[in-house]
Amino acid sequence: MAIKVTVWNEYVHEVGDSAAAKYIRQFYPNGIHNAIKDNIAADDLEIRAVTLQDPEQGLPEDVLNDTDVLVWWGHCAHHMVEDALVDRIQTRVLQGMGLIVLHSGHYSKIFKRMMGTSCSLRWREIGEKERVWVIDKQHPITQGVPDSFVVPNTEMYGEPFGIPNDAHDVFISWYEGGNVFRSGVTFQRGAGKIFYFSPGHETFPIYNNPDVAKVIQNACRWAAATLPPQKTDCWNCDPPVETVTTVNPLKQLDTKDLHEKAE
Ligand code: ZN
Repeated sequence: MAIKVTVWNEYVHEVGDSAAAKYIRQFYPNGIHNAIKDNIAADDLEIRAVTLQDPEQGLPEDVLNDTDVLVWWGHCAHHMVEDALVDRIQTRVLQGMGLIVLHSGHYSKIFKRMMGTSCSLRWREIGEKERVWVIDKQHPITQGVPDSFVVPNTEMYGEPFGIPNDAHDVFISWYEGGNVFRSGVTFQRGAGKIFYFSPGHETFPIYNNPDVAKVIQNACRWAAATLPPQKTDCWNCDPPVETVTTVNPLKQLDTKDLHEKAE
């Protein structure tokens, strides 16, 4: 059965009459979401592309519930994403939906919610070279990816990266300007797997790079839930009703002597 992938994009930078928008449309004529969709296409992935501009911000209940892996690209419209939608995505992740957060999505509401930390980083936009190194050669996300690959022009994202200490490092990047960055990290939240991958600044055709596309494609397969949705006990879910049916085993113990001897 194919893995159902939904690629979400705020779809702001690519739209309009500005020089920047026209420039970006030269390599992403149908938006970042459709570029990712086309470039990660595979027989085992059933991919749809949606945007913030679509009804219900692109993720109505039926779409979200029919998604095995959600891929997220956002930058200047993080604040536009409704908190109620963030709640629903969080619940789905805790139940087992995969979440892949790309580039400037480090500051998205959903990534910050799942991390619980600042998610801050250094950045510099001078179009410098980035070399992405594989750290975990055994990880499913790095299969078929060379030991290192170059993104010729990129926005630098540098350490310190404000993510929690349970990050598993899959990639680390070196930049021409001397900085380094944990450019690919995984997390587990509830039953859901999360992957953050930094390459993808909008003014360079980074998602057309076959190595970058391969990483995202692998990540979709890795993050897809292998089990049916799991029940959660997260703070914004209805708590499960439980009935205690077993006898309290401690009731059988007479610890009076122990207590008295201890005194
Ligand atoms: Zn950027």
